[in-house]
Amino acid sequence: MNFETAAIHVGQSPEPATGAIIPPIYATSTYAQLGPGETRGYDYTRSGNPNFTNLEQTLCALEGAEHATVFATGMSAITAVISTLSTGDLVIAEENIYGCTFRIYDEVFAKFGVKIEYCDLTDPANFDRIRNRSPQLVWIESPTNPLLKILDIQTIADEAHSAGAALVVDNTFASPYFQKPLALGADISLSSTTKYINGHSDCLGGVVLCRDSAWHEKMVFAQKAIGLNPSPFDAWLISRGVKTLAVRMQKHADNALAFAHYLEQHPSTAFVRYPHLPSHPHHELACRQMSGGSGMVAAEFDLSLEQTQRLLSRFKVFALAESLGGIESLVSHPPTMSHASIPREQRETVGIRDGLIRFSVGIEHVDDLIADFDQALD
Ligand SMILES: *Cc1c(COP(=O)(O)O)cnc(C)c1O
Repeated sequence: MNFETAAIHVGQSPEPATGAIIPPIYATSTYAQLGPGETRGYDYTRSGNPNFTNLEQTLCALEGAEHATVFATGMSAITAVISTLSTGDLVIAEENIYGCTFRIYDEVFAKFGVKIEYCDLTDPANFDRIRNRSPQLVWIESPTNPLLKILDIQTIADEAHSAGAALVVDNTFASPYFQKPLALGADISLSSTTKYINGHSDCLGGVVLCRDSAWHEKMVFAQKAIGLNPSPFDAWLISRGVKTLAVRMQKHADNALAFAHYLEQHPSTAFVRYPHLPSHPHHELACRQMSGGSGMVAAEFDLSLEQTQRLLSRFKVFALAESLGGIESLVSHPPTMSHASIPREQRETVGIRDGLIRFSVGIEHVDDLIADFDQALD
């Protein structure tokens, strides 16, 4: 079944009792048992709910996974994966990952003795780190947040596997429409479903996808044991949102490419990053690994911190807000917003400077987005 069809039909059969075309919201904490310990497949919503099952089936189909486990947020999905580690275990991570992923490693799991080392995994010279340090996990994102670096998932998966490690890919920025990490060799593909998968900025969620049943059992255990489950209503909303993922992603990518082209020729721009722009340093890999460039654009402008902040507060169509991947365009300032929790020095060494702006390009008419940028800059 093709992606567009699976997004609408898998996990979304009409409800058998009434024929309702849309499965209802199973707003229940518990389930009547047939006899003691004899269930119809569900016993308590922390460990399962039909709305979770429906969404898990859809997301498995979209990414070609064997197993999916849904969580309350992207950070819950990340927590579930890290919770499988023990004191003394090591993670080698790309240095340009999501700000809250840094924070959960450095300020939460470090207290329990989980070790993490960061390096630039776009540079093959750093693959030695994977070979020499025997990590349990290698942790990457591609495209990265906010600089949209592209990492070679297949090569890094091979490196991780030859070192006996599992590769975790945070696929939030690409979405399963443009990139399928499991098919490229990753052991785990996780996403914040808050972003493109839901797409409507009206709830939070996360998912872990894998092929291996041992990983799946660990995720089901973490959902139940730590209490990382979503609400049935949020799972239902995400099931509704994901049905239009294909058409949304196509429009996000068309708009983002046009917007990136416009910024690139603008005299105030120092550089623009968009994976499918020929000027992107990893353009060839991006075209090989992702079937489209997705909707995120990063650009650095020749502006001071104060000028950048003034520019950011003048957009009228783009909303100044955290998050990404919704139908409405958003603009954000990584140094003072999503990446403010990273110490300034560490932030600047990875290239997040004061003039950097991140655009989550929505599905409005692109001419209105370009006009909005022009009036804000004026
Ligand atoms: C937003 C995001 C997360 C965290 O997801 P939440 O749903 O906000 O908890 C993780 N990784 C990436 C790349 C993100 O953009």
